[in-house]
Amino acid sequence: MLQFQDTPYWHIGIKKPTFPTPEIPKVIDVVIIGGGFTGLSTALHLLRSGRTVAIFDAMTIGDGASGKNGGMVGPSLHKLGLEGLTTKYGNKKAMAILQEGMHAIEFFKSFITKESIDCDFEMTGRFRGATTQKAIENIIRDSEKLTALKGFHFDVVKKQDIHSEIGSDLYQGGIVYHQDGGLHPFKLLCELAKKVISRGGLVFEKTLVGNTYQTPNGIKVETEKGGLTARDVVVASNGYTKKFARSTRKYFSKRLLPITSAMIASEQLSPDFINRLFPNKRMHGGNHRLVQYYRASPDHKRVLFGARGIDTYDRAIQNGKMLKKHLCKIFPELETVKIEYSWSGKVAYTFDHAPHLGKQDGIYYAMGYCGSGVTRSIYLANKLANRILGIDDYQTAFDDLPFESKPFYTGKPWFMPMVLKWHSFLDHIEGN
Ligand SMILES: Cc1cc2nc3c(=O)[nH]c(=O)nc-3n(C[C@H](O)[C@H](O)[C@H](O)COP(=O)(O)OP(=O)(O)OC[C@H]3O[C@@H](n4cnc5c(N)ncnc54)[C@H](O)[C@@H]3O)c2cc1C
Repeated sequence: MLQFQDTPYWHIGIKKPTFPTPEIPKVIDVVIIGGGFTGLSTALHLLRSGRTVAIFDAMTIGDGASGKNGGMVGPSLHKLGLEGLTTKYGNKKAMAILQEGMHAIEFFKSFITKESIDCDFEMTGRFRGATTQKAIENIIRDSEKLTALKGFHFDVVKKQDIHSEIGSDLYQGGIVYHQDGGLHPFKLLCELAKKVISRGGLVFEKTLVGNTYQTPNGIKVETEKGGLTARDVVVASNGYTKKFARSTRKYFSKRLLPITSAMIASEQLSPDFINRLFPNKRMHGGNHRLVQYYRASPDHKRVLFGARGIDTYDRAIQNGKMLKKHLCKIFPELETVKIEYSWSGKVAYTFDHAPHLGKQDGIYYAMGYCGSGVTRSIYLANKLANRILGIDDYQTAFDDLPFESKPFYTGKPWFMPMVLKWHSFLDHIEGN
């Protein structure tokens, strides 16, 4: 029988900072809604520039996606690729959007170094496997086009060399992307939180923010533990926007598709075994339409595997069983290995597959990272903070993209189970 804990593996053995719980002040410079990577890193930049900041999170720090993701970082180039983006926006804009991803990872690397953040960060590279000859040709063709981007490098891995990258016979070949890496997401989150507290930032956990109103003295923010007035408000709620939405955030709910992403962690395995599965300690994925991501834990003792959840709920047992099945297709020898942890969280997709940031109805926001938010959130938080502070370096290639909604869409992606079934069917007939 499968038996696992529904706690994220990342939370085991990590001491979360404690947050002093002062009274909610009556007035503050900036209120931030959401204490994940977006909220905490926006706060850090603002605090450095002398702003007073209060962060409110409806859950506890670490319960949102930032504390329990796959810990994979990289440029997260746009899903549509150069061809799709060029069709939609023209070549110049397409290149600018893709290059923004490269800026993001460069910023991320220097941020972690400058801040001396200890979060097991390593630029390991990412291996993307292709299950068919056609898929490998497509991946190579797409990657060759991307070499026009500054800083983008890749290597092709042939079928006969596949075991130098992965202990699996599933793939016919693959690509190594060198500008990707991995880290321990909960360590990163805790380090950010500690920095925010040490700079005098106020963090209120389990405090839902309700409505916000513009008043002559600033923005009145209602929380379930009392109200306050802020000069500026930042919405940093990403995949949890709908869950806690109040009227003022309907605008965002109508533009975000909250999706459940789920992960499992195996029991501890021998170093030799893990080294055979992941010889280069890289991050991994494939050409499956149903996105799958996997890696070894940073201590190189466990296999971590993630994919879309079964539905919109946090179903540790059902997701755990499904994920183990997918995992064993890649590594059949894991069939007898025990899964010890199964958990899930919410990510936010957008209709144009791009993240969005800016100001709406007087409220700042950064969100919609489309499942790739570790690098993007830290990068865009810096841009957003610059904008709030009036620092000129705040522009991004995403700024002028319309934040699209669809008629009759109110924040519940009822069509997603059908889309996922369709993708699963296509994966099946394409032999993925
Ligand atoms: C299982 C999983 C695996 C993933 N793997 C990767 C990966 O490997 N690489 C990658 O790049 N990305 C990954 N992601 C995505 C990434 O984790 C997110 O994009 C990123 O963490 C978003 O950060 P955030 O701060 O914007 O939002 P979150 O960290 O989700 O935080 C939002 C917070 O807002 C709070 N909130 C919402 N509404 C309110 C309200 N009204 N009042 C108060 N608080 C509120 C919520 O409680 C929540 O804590 C993964 C996500 C999941 C779930």
